[in-house]
Amino acid sequence: MSQDVEKQLLADVPDGLYIGGEWRAAADGGTLEVRDPATGGAVKRIASAGVADGTAALDAASEAFPDWASTPVRERAELLRRAFDLVQERKEDFALLMTIEMGKPLAEARGEVAYGGEFLRWFSEQAAHVQGRYGANPEGTGRMIVSQHPVGPCYLITPWNFPLAMATRKIAPALAAGCTVVVKPAALTPLTTLYFAKVLQDAGLPDGVVNVITTSSSGPVSEAIIADPRLRKLSFTGSTQVGKKLLEQAAGGVLRTSMELGGNAPFVVFDDADLGKAVDGAIAAKFRNIGQACTAANRFIVQAGVADEFARRVTERVKGFKTGRGTEEGVMIGPLIDDKAVSKAEELVRDAIDRGATLRAGGGPIDGPGSFYAATVLTDVRPGSDILSEEIFGPVVTIMAFEDEDEAVRLANDTEYGLVSYVYTESLARGQRMIEKLQTGMMGLNVGVVSNAAAPFGGWKLSGLGREGGAEGIHEYLQTKYTLTANPFG
Ligand code: NAP
Repeated sequence: MSQDVEKQLLADVPDGLYIGGEWRAAADGGTLEVRDPATGGAVKRIASAGVADGTAALDAASEAFPDWASTPVRERAELLRRAFDLVQERKEDFALLMTIEMGKPLAEARGEVAYGGEFLRWFSEQAAHVQGRYGANPEGTGRMIVSQHPVGPCYLITPWNFPLAMATRKIAPALAAGCTVVVKPAALTPLTTLYFAKVLQDAGLPDGVVNVITTSSSGPVSEAIIADPRLRKLSFTGSTQVGKKLLEQAAGGVLRTSMELGGNAPFVVFDDADLGKAVDGAIAAKFRNIGQACTAANRFIVQAGVADEFARRVTERVKGFKTGRGTEEGVMIGPLIDDKAVSKAEELVRDAIDRGATLRAGGGPIDGPGSFYAATVLTDVRPGSDILSEEIFGPVVTIMAFEDEDEAVRLANDTEYGLVSYVYTESLARGQRMIEKLQTGMMGLNVGVVSNAAAPFGGWKLSGLGREGGAEGIHEYLQTKYTLTANPFG
């Protein structure tokens, strides 16, 4: 990838806040710097919103709401469809931008453009399928009408790990439902959302329907927006720790909330599994996004009879991975998002080894520029190791063995999280038992990646509230009204 192409792309990304259809500097002139985690170098300086800018963005969203809510559904849907087409046209730009600011390999970034873009198409199709009900009440004295209405202006907070998909997964259903939004991407990866706002502008989105604020003060800026009585909905994707804090703030305004929070996914391999498929699934479930996904397999729980062979095959694959900047051909392991993430992986791996785990591959940071951590495999991970209870968010495989199905279920459910689980077995009945027993909102049964715009994505337990995608996704942005009318026949 030539440096000129990168330079031109970065120059094309707006550097202002997008408020009321205009690009503007922060009121106090604040800025923040975006870095490339593969080199540590600065790539672009952009505006950093303060509290006044957050309020201005909510002003714009509130003003635009009545017109957007009453815009015919077909028009809203067609706008989303145009945005989908524009994302396809600019897919190489979006992919490169995500690789630059977030570090994922270019091939994966292209995959995210496909996945993230799909929310625009999916919700353009779903928009016209929101329906109400009409019918007589059981007493026969009246007629009941149940109708759906947009909840109002929304605040959408997204994380750094999937810069495009986490934005479209919220913006598309909100717009389809008739809501207006203020979007706040993570300070580490704000460029993709700014570039996406340009797409929406080019697609003809009316001013103020989508507003984007980038900021290095997410706490105070968000708190003021959430406390504003004009806001009616908060949708957040990020850590459980921050999600809990935001839920407390949202309680003040009794806001509708959607919370897509952390995970600690078990990946269970039974001895009747097709081991080749299980290893392929394990590599996808663990190493996609360099292990920095809420859906990343965090704990490999493998039946004793196949545990050694599974570990041997995974280790062999891991030792063959190429590490480097995501723009280089054939790279599987890009950088972690920052040095803090490298230190966290280091601590978790050290703790696991100190408690008796065996290191089979990798095991530490990689010297040189950028925030790289070697793809790592640990076996015989002991109960009580921190790595089993915390989200690793890095390229580290932890394998432990189990004897029977009951033990597998107990180990898999032994976490306060419940986002996704993965199960490999050739037995249909066993697979069905796992669907009923594992406490997660999603499951991959002989499949290592579950995300799909047409499916309800979301977790149980501390992994969150609500669903994104699927037929459910649009209902997060709708509120129900029941009306009773008199019996028209007297
Ligand atoms: P994070 O630290 O919780 O940040 C998420 C977002 O919240 C960012 O935009 C961040 O902005 C903002 N934020 C942080 N502190 C805030 C505060 N006090 N008030 C308001 N906003 C605040 O999480 P992350 O490190 O970016 O993302 C990784 C986490 O997200 C993992 O736990 C992962 O599992 C989870 N995740 C979940 C899903 C899902 O669908 N369930 C999907 C992807 C990721 P700044 O960073 O700019 O402060």
